[in-house]
Amino acid sequence: MIGGGYVGLVSGACFAEFGTEVTVVETDANKLAALREGRMPIYEPGLEDLVQSNVKAGRLSFTGDLASAVAGTQAVFIAVGTPTRRGDGHADLSYVYAAAEQVARALTGYAVIVTKSTVPVGTGRRIEEIIRSTRPDLDFDVASNPEFLREGNAIGDFMRPDRVVIGAETDRAREVMRLLYRPLYLIEAPIVFTAIETAELTKYAANAFLAMKVTFINEMADLCERVGADVHDVARGIGLDGRIGRKFLHPGPGYGGSCFPKDTLALLRTAQDYGAPSRLVEATVAVNDARKSSMAMRVINACGGSVRGKTIAVLGLTFKPETDDMRDSPALAIVSRLVGDGAAVRAFDPEGMEQARPLLPDAVVYCTDALDAASGADALVLITEWNEFRALPPARLGEAMRGRVLVDLRNVYDPVAMRQYGFTYYDIGRSTRS
Ligand code: NAD
Repeated sequence: MIGGGYVGLVSGACFAEFGTEVTVVETDANKLAALREGRMPIYEPGLEDLVQSNVKAGRLSFTGDLASAVAGTQAVFIAVGTPTRRGDGHADLSYVYAAAEQVARALTGYAVIVTKSTVPVGTGRRIEEIIRSTRPDLDFDVASNPEFLREGNAIGDFMRPDRVVIGAETDRAREVMRLLYRPLYLIEAPIVFTAIETAELTKYAANAFLAMKVTFINEMADLCERVGADVHDVARGIGLDGRIGRKFLHPGPGYGGSCFPKDTLALLRTAQDYGAPSRLVEATVAVNDARKSSMAMRVINACGGSVRGKTIAVLGLTFKPETDDMRDSPALAIVSRLVGDGAAVRAFDPEGMEQARPLLPDAVVYCTDALDAASGADALVLITEWNEFRALPPARLGEAMRGRVLVDLRNVYDPVAMRQYGFTYYDIGRSTRS
């Protein structure tokens, strides 16, 4: 497994749990040192136990030496990052191609080189060319096996996936992949075999569709506010239709994270390059970008039109709960705007503060818990719905704060109860419950 990040580490540990011998190759010296000492470089529920038990069983190990890890293996997964390339929205494939070349040099016999990273259509072919030109003698196949796990529930998603998509073009490659995923046949998880290009595109299509769904319900939430409707009832009313489905219909401050923003942009580039532009995805990206700034405006308006000189408590910084991942979190845009407009921000996040620090303005004060963040605040904004924020006692919150403005960007609190406790409470798209 090349890359020991969210995807490589989780997939490696899960394959080991399935009984396969796995070596995870990680170039970042700090991450590698942590892994070797049994510490997790990322926060993911259940991961530490899974890693430790498989290391103990001798099925999982970590190294910085790609060549020794790859020699003699039957399958090499490339699970390195594919961030947005500066300037043009394309996926930056330099880590993927560098890994492919190193793998080619190190292989000692037939192997399937599998791309697990999210990569644009055509990458598998390019990897094949790189390997062939690096090692014209080598017997190998390439395959595409995009990963659909969600951070925060990554192990469950890997072990009990809705489906596994495998782009492979020889029987030999398909057989290796079948063997690796054999435990999933027992639980009847659908395994979809496709062409390589199809597998590559399927991942982007899935993420773009989910991003579109979130963005759609966010727009409906705005409309609900204007017409006096309740977006949760609308979501339930449409979501119970099996053709639509109930998931991903929760309104909020806009999607973020390490996947949707970069994958929608990369899909747009591919669509433009191939002369089949996707207007729907273009609109989704634009609407979501605008939403992040409009969320900061909500807070500013809730504070009477200006936050200058005000103290604002921010609960939750990560792009969703149960992760420490801050990449493209809506909190980045919201907090930066509030600080830029002169607010003093007191923030708390259960897992994300270390990753948030270099990304947020220096002036942000990081607190020990939610009540500490609320201490002396004129307004409180909930950005990420960590469970521990749901049960905050409103009375104690009120006592800690100086003001009584509460902006709930995830609709976790009961509007009636919050108003009874004297809060001026703002939520998203629930005008009928006011
Ligand atoms: P990440 O940044 O957490 O991990 C990538 C790791 O690869 C890093 O630790 C980096 O040090 C390491 N690395 C880079 N080059 C290397 C090399 N040559 N040899 C060894 N290690 C190397 O990224 P991630 O979140 O795990 O994402 C990886 C890929 O999976 C991306 O393409 C992403 O889009 C995709 N993906 C991510 C998720 C998710 O939820 N994070 C879900 C599905 C798919």
